[in-house]
Amino acid sequence: MPPSIMQARNAKQIGYKTSRGDAMKALVWEAARTMTLRDEPEPTAAADEIVVRVGHAGICGSELSGYLGHNALRVPPLIMGHEFAGEIVDLGPLVPELRPDLALGALVTLNPLWYCGDCQPCAAGLNQLCGTRRLIGAHRPGAFAEYLSAPAKLALRLPEGMNTRTGALTEPVGCAVRIAELAGAVSDADCLIIGAGPIGLLSLQMLRYQGAARVFIAEIDEARLAMADVLGGIAIQPSEVDTVEAVLEATDGAGVAVSIDAVGTALTREQCVAATKASGRLILSGLHEESSAMPVAAMIRGEITAVGSFAYTPANFARALELLGAGAIRLDPWIHEAPLGEGGHWFERLIEAPGDVSKVLLVP
Ligand SMILES: [Zn+2]
Ligand SMILES: [Zn+2]
Repeated sequence: MPPSIMQARNAKQIGYKTSRGDAMKALVWEAARTMTLRDEPEPTAAADEIVVRVGHAGICGSELSGYLGHNALRVPPLIMGHEFAGEIVDLGPLVPELRPDLALGALVTLNPLWYCGDCQPCAAGLNQLCGTRRLIGAHRPGAFAEYLSAPAKLALRLPEGMNTRTGALTEPVGCAVRIAELAGAVSDADCLIIGAGPIGLLSLQMLRYQGAARVFIAEIDEARLAMADVLGGIAIQPSEVDTVEAVLEATDGAGVAVSIDAVGTALTREQCVAATKASGRLILSGLHEESSAMPVAAMIRGEITAVGSFAYTPANFARALELLGAGAIRLDPWIHEAPLGEGGHWFERLIEAPGDVSKVLLVP
């Protein structure tokens, strides 16, 4: 009996729905600042794909700019959502051979970056830099829906005992794992992070996990700065003190060994250069402004290395899941769970005034 038929039978026996084509609820971004909960056809699994019933799906900062219409990557109408975990409810006929570890009912998260596997970056394990990469929730329907389909090769099983609330954090944690990897050896070194959004807070934890001495973190939003303080960062409030002066003063004028810009404006990029010591390292992660002037002469005279950090390698993604499983990284108690239908409200809230919420997880 072909595996597909066996699966269909097994699925029926244990109560999974295999007849697709039914309607599901999905949060559809229809135009700038317009998101509507509506009925969409349920997805089906192509031969090498799985269908996942979404448990939790996080709202990402990049989706906020997409929602505002500031992002060429995302074109309406679109179901966004690339930070998620859920339960496998269907498998394409090739999946049992491709991924024998996947099964109906298994809890998984997915690396949302599809890659070709053949190009030069892919061969080097840098699949996030694949020339033909595609993002779930941008190039194909994402996780702000009851179900989504995706290539099985992107799935990772959640470790025993992990729920989808924690599993959905793998993607943003993966970004921080990549940032910390590019930061290199930080043990006993002082570091600076500008921006205490989810990526800033997760990077703070990664640097501390890797043995950094002091991690200064600058953030205007008081509630977010308070989170950074709880997580062991040394808080800098830029509306009260000059970020660069505060760092230089605390480091006897030397500056930090590693700075991370998790905002991405002309100002924060300049501040990172000015706060980094000679032969230090600057990780550029924030994408707020597409291009901006940088004090290049200072970088030359200080031999400062600047490097961009984009998403995560598959190895970073797997490591993120491990770290979450080990309880080494967290965003609790600043996670807010909201019904999928309230997604539009939460997009607005995160844009206007996030307050004491770091990550919103939508629950279909
Ligand atoms: Zn994201
Ligand atoms: Zn590739």
